[in-house]
Amino acid sequence: HARRIEGIDKNIWVEFTQLAADYKAVNLGQGFPDFSPPSFVQEAFCKALNGGFSMHQYTRAFGHPNLVKILAKFFSRIVGREIDPMEDILVSVGAYQALFCTFQALIDEGDEVIIVEPFFDCYQPMVMMAGGTICLLYLRLKCLEGCGPVLSSADWVLSPEELASKFSPRTKAIVINTPNNPLGKVYQREELQMIADLCIKHDVICISDEVYEWLTYDGTKHVKIASLPGMWERTVTIGSAGKTFSATGWKVGWAMGSGHILKHLKTVHQNSVYHCATAAQEAVAVGFQREYDVFGTEESYFHQLPIHLHEKRLRLADCLKSVGLKPILPQGGYFMIADISNLNVDLTDPSTKDEPYDYRFVKWLIKEKGLATIPVSAFYSPEHRNEFQKYIRFCFVKVILKGSYDAILKIIIL
Ligand code: PMP
Ligand code: GLN
Repeated sequence: HARRIEGIDKNIWVEFTQLAADYKAVNLGQGFPDFSPPSFVQEAFCKALNGGFSMHQYTRAFGHPNLVKILAKFFSRIVGREIDPMEDILVSVGAYQALFCTFQALIDEGDEVIIVEPFFDCYQPMVMMAGGTICLLYLRLKCLEGCGPVLSSADWVLSPEELASKFSPRTKAIVINTPNNPLGKVYQREELQMIADLCIKHDVICISDEVYEWLTYDGTKHVKIASLPGMWERTVTIGSAGKTFSATGWKVGWAMGSGHILKHLKTVHQNSVYHCATAAQEAVAVGFQREYDVFGTEESYFHQLPIHLHEKRLRLADCLKSVGLKPILPQGGYFMIADISNLNVDLTDPSTKDEPYDYRFVKWLIKEKGLATIPVSAFYSPEHRNEFQKYIRFCFVKVILKGSYDAILKIIIL
């Protein structure tokens, strides 16, 4: 095999999704809704499929024209500048492929990429496949005492000094993820400004993964770093229709940014995937047009989904607290992490004895209690995994939460 895939053969989603299926566990692990997308996008998909031959054929390589046009129109209003549909957007096979194109297009052998831990796991292997070197930085819990009885993802912060120390002449890019998976942290404007100032000072590109951009709670606002002064020219913003419209299986995503950067992502895309499914793109275009028309009203799905999830989030937090777990309330996204250290489970399964504690705990929970979650150390680099073994991640974009709280409680009770 090629050297570039050395050491990255294991994948948390492949492993734990299979295990959850094998044990027929209640699945609060992998992040996907167990309900259908809103009817207006489902209907748009059916209409596209029945609408004649062209929806079954190739479309424009860099994004179906209807989709890039409405994405540009929609996000011009959010970013506060004119986005060019043909130059500034690349439609990809999910946010995954947008990330892959970004790293392949922009990172050379020896370039350094700053990644903030905990991070969505694919960033590290993708940077490595591009030949880049990873420079890690932690989000740290700012107050071990005095944070109040309920910890929030807002209590996890970057140290300005540590952040600044990671930038060097070799730094090519920094990756941020807001709202963050798995923590749910939503970066505040001041934090983004601190990152932006460093990017500008050191001429560094910012790769901003914003797939959960519509999911924020308790009045927390999502801010796009690309909208800060001087950042549009150096930011690639990644989005996902899977997360936006609760349709993760459609695998429609995008990268957005200045045409002088995006053109390089297009080079990777045209020579690898070429384009993603035409009918799915058409349906997402119809969805965005609808959201454009109702934006800011109570009818908007982007308004309704977080309201719906807010309830689930509070109920899950209460449920976890009642069985002795310590949840960290997320400001955004659809995951909640919880501290398992005071449960003191005696994990005796010898087949897992060399694994981090949270991996062993999650395997025990799946096998013995029929509940699937994800170990949070998977969101740390292998070098740091052993330092972060006391949290597991729950996904709350699930209807099963509603009817099965008692079951979940029983499952967790030791
Ligand atoms: N980034 C983050 C932070 C994610 O959680 C995910 C998983 N959905 C992705 C990117 C990939 O998104 P997609 O399913 O659109 O490929
Ligand atoms: N992004 C989703 C999660 O974090 C799932 C990713 C995947 O299944 N590959 O759970």
